Amino acid sequence: MNLKNQRLLTGQSFINGQFINANKQKTFSVTNPYDGKHIIDVADCSASETQSAITKANEAFVSWRQLTGTERSTILRRWFELQMENIDDLAMILTVEQGKPLAEAKGEIRYGASFVEWFAEEAKRAYGDTIPGHQRDKRIVVIKQPIGVVAAITPWNFPSAMITRKVAPALAAGCTVVIKPSELTPLSANALAVLAQDAGFPSGVLNIVNTSTPEKVGKELTANPTVRKLSFTGSTEVGKILLRQCSDTVKKVSLELGGNAPFIVFDDADINEAVEGAIAAKYRNAGQTCVCANRMFVQDGIYEEFTQRFTKAVQQLIIGSGLEKGVVIGPLIEEKAVQSIEFVVADAIDKGANLLTGGNRKDKDSLFFQPTVLTDVTPDMKVFIQEIFGPVAPIFKFETDEVVIALANDTPYGLAAYFYGRDYARIWRVAEALEYGMVGINTGMLSTPVAPFGGIKESGFGREGSKYGMDDYLDMKYLCWGGI
Ligand code: ADP
Repeated sequence: MNLKNQRLLTGQSFINGQFINANKQKTFSVTNPYDGKHIIDVADCSASETQSAITKANEAFVSWRQLTGTERSTILRRWFELQMENIDDLAMILTVEQGKPLAEAKGEIRYGASFVEWFAEEAKRAYGDTIPGHQRDKRIVVIKQPIGVVAAITPWNFPSAMITRKVAPALAAGCTVVIKPSELTPLSANALAVLAQDAGFPSGVLNIVNTSTPEKVGKELTANPTVRKLSFTGSTEVGKILLRQCSDTVKKVSLELGGNAPFIVFDDADINEAVEGAIAAKYRNAGQTCVCANRMFVQDGIYEEFTQRFTKAVQQLIIGSGLEKGVVIGPLIEEKAVQSIEFVVADAIDKGANLLTGGNRKDKDSLFFQPTVLTDVTPDMKVFIQEIFGPVAPIFKFETDEVVIALANDTPYGLAAYFYGRDYARIWRVAEALEYGMVGINTGMLSTPVAPFGGIKESGFGREGSKYGMDDYLDMKYLCWGGI
């Protein structure tokens, strides 16, 4: 890989300010999903390295928490600037290990860095509160304090931004962190660690433990009583395991889990905007995001026209290597992912869905799946029930608001929802009725550091970004002064 700053590519893990190999020099291989080629060997850590990272993070917590918000802010700010200065290299590393097109990878680096910038500012604003006393001689003050050592377990679909989104508010609050990135994409995490070292974080404040055995490292992170908080982004299945494991030591937990986003188009929608929004919400990252539109509901009056225009737009999406110009759909992350898409598409067709475009792997043995559109979809199909996590759009036809709201909410998930329409009264009614943590109205994109990202129901709890984002890493303490 040709980088301007070759130091950014490393397979070593980062503990107590040092890049280290794993015990017994164990490693695992990281490959490029585009061609399956080996990129680099990565230090394969286990419980003992994790334990030492936690101990070092706890030692570093003593002095990190004592810095002023402004002092922490200065280092975070420098980390943000370094990410922006190295955006080309960071995006290249991301595309090579994850597959997404370079332009999208750059977008992710910019987006991820924007959380560092945001929380560098918020570091100065961990405000408390004063409450009028309940007795004449009493005064009540609320203060907020960093919770302690934070464990962050992150997925492969946003290998950089899912780290900064957790780590920036944690560090801003005065916590220290141990990060366990996905074993499929550890290189973006390591590159962030190189820049964290350059930015001047004291040793032990930020640690990275890579592993090919997430269960072992996960057990240590969740069982170790020194860890006071777990923030996890990933599947609902693994989130539930981790939540159970955290119960023994009653850790504070944030979970950002799976979604099953409805994308509703009402008859009065601006059809061009709806098509554009649907493409963005469905096909970004080849459909591999937890806020991707999973089920598209189109009202009967606009159904034919929308479906036709949408399918035409889908047929124009270019598949290929993320490093090639003009490519918008990269490979899926691994063979298992392609098989799971093949399975849900076959199930839908089997149960009577109509295939308008796509439907197959691009070539035998490749990890590319053609952008796909299915119509005549019904709620008994797997594409309705589960998170697809691939470039497949199932379209449902509906008649009334009541029916579509019921269908949209008929899922255990509650992360993102989208709808297009112009009637303002309906916009309010529908927005309030959707059981989701985030609702995009006449837009297919809703992620930004200034707004609270997160879900309800089995999509999890906790919020990332915004003025609320630091609360997840702060304890609230109330001081009751008597005898005044
Ligand atoms: P995805 O479906 O996005 O791959 P996963 O939930 O499997 O989601 O993975 C998200 C993160 O959780 C990754 O870092 C992965 O290594 C980690 N992980 C998976 N299983 C466990 C586990 N049992 N304990 C701790 N971490 C795990």
